[in-house]
Amino acid sequence: MTTTISHFIGGRTVAGTGTRSAPVFNPATGEETGRVALASTADVNTAVAAAKAVARTWASTTPLRRARILNAFLRIAEDRIDELAALITAEHGKVLSDAKGEIQRGLEVVEFATGIPQLLKGEVTENVGTRVDSHSLRQPLGVVAGITPFNFPVMVPMWMFPVALACGNCFILKPSERDPSPALLVAAWLKEAGLPDGVFSVVHGDKEAVDALLHHPDIAAVSFVGSTPIARYIYATATANGKRAQCLGGAKNHMIVMPDADLDQAVDALMGAAYGSAGERCMAISVAVPVGEKTADALVAKLIPKVRVLKVGPGTDPDSEMGPLVTRVHRDKVSGYIDAGVAEGAELLVDGRGLSLQGYEGGYFLGGTLFDRVTPDMSIYKEEIFGPVLAITRAPDYATAAKLINEHEFGNGTAIFTRDGDAAREFAHGIEVGMVGINVPIPVPMAFHSFGGWKASLFGDHHMHGPEGVRFYTRLKTITTRWPTGIRAGADFVMPTMS
Ligand code: NAD
Repeated sequence: MTTTISHFIGGRTVAGTGTRSAPVFNPATGEETGRVALASTADVNTAVAAAKAVARTWASTTPLRRARILNAFLRIAEDRIDELAALITAEHGKVLSDAKGEIQRGLEVVEFATGIPQLLKGEVTENVGTRVDSHSLRQPLGVVAGITPFNFPVMVPMWMFPVALACGNCFILKPSERDPSPALLVAAWLKEAGLPDGVFSVVHGDKEAVDALLHHPDIAAVSFVGSTPIARYIYATATANGKRAQCLGGAKNHMIVMPDADLDQAVDALMGAAYGSAGERCMAISVAVPVGEKTADALVAKLIPKVRVLKVGPGTDPDSEMGPLVTRVHRDKVSGYIDAGVAEGAELLVDGRGLSLQGYEGGYFLGGTLFDRVTPDMSIYKEEIFGPVLAITRAPDYATAAKLINEHEFGNGTAIFTRDGDAAREFAHGIEVGMVGINVPIPVPMAFHSFGGWKASLFGDHHMHGPEGVRFYTRLKTITTRWPTGIRAGADFVMPTMS
């Protein structure tokens, strides 16, 4: 049975005026389970108008009241986490435990945002001049938009909207059209928690909806997470239209394995970081860089048997370690990269192509894949594959390994496994990447820090959530105050100074 997935605008489900829709699949079976409405420009305009109508009231609502609504939402989401996780697995394909993990990480941002009364406290200086005081405060931007990717249908929107709403903005979410349903459940729970209608809307769609948001004069800021070409486009278009923008793009995350590393620990870390969520994570490790031939040979010998026995299956099976890829098109694209790696001369140690699971023959499965002797000129090294494919690029020494990372187009995340404090410190200090792990394979910052990469992994000045999120979703106002004192100095036409 297929369902119709509609928009959520002004506090209610809205079919929209758009005449187009897109299929939504269960990646484990290949079955079409629904069709999602693709918004027209008029639908986007309706959502912006609904937000604008309540923006002033919401901005004037006390931060404590806004925090309490988010707290109520947090309790609802924690109580019903299974329902949301099931929706993620049904449309994204990831295993249920991983879906719950993503929700948990998202809810940590909600927890952070409930501290907004403290976070919005401004600065005061008494007596900036004689009997003159100054204070600075941060005010919301108005109506802001978030455009999000398929791979974290709940966590990535939660990097954005909790902080945006807590700061007093109205938020319009345009989720990925490939797994659109979880966003609607989140919207329903926000309403149930007491969020006024219009403050949070979900508009489904593709380029037409995105372009309508980017060109709408009442959208003050745009947060984007997705692939680098689209991030670049959205940043350029949003800023050309006078909007504030933060646009996070793709990744190619390397993990250096030093000769002194605990190899078993490094191998376990690599397995989870490369193959968890079928490699469809922007913080996945896709290149392992063992230093020295001896380290490389030992690493490969330990990895091969583990990759071979990776349990691939539907996300609903508690025994599965890795689910299917999100769509047939994406599975075929990843499979094409494996063909390219072979053609380019990389050594294919474990081949995940052609995997068929009994009872799930229509699913978009691909087994774990391992390449050795991948070199920087190969497309499987240069480009983001976004699948369960780990490349090993051997380096003779630390300097060569670090140079590889610094010269790569992307700079999202990276890690080093070592017992050597000197090497670790040098790595943390000199590596040109936004998020760095020392014996931590996926160094995703906690909610009260901020998330973001460098180079082609982020366009804009602000990372997401944490203190950077508060800065992004507010603008600074500084007020200088003097009360009449009975002294009249007469008009003064020179620049005011404190002399
Ligand atoms: P995508 O770029 O295809 O889509 C992201 C969003 O942009 C979706 O909402 C989509 O509808 C919209 N979009 C797609 N094409 C568009 C166009 N031509 N014009 C306007 N809007 C368009 O990304 P995806 O495949 O959904 O997600 C995977 C990508 O996201 C990977 O590259 C991954 O690295 C990246 N990602 C990055 C981070 C990060 O923090 N840097 C986090 C998660 C995912």
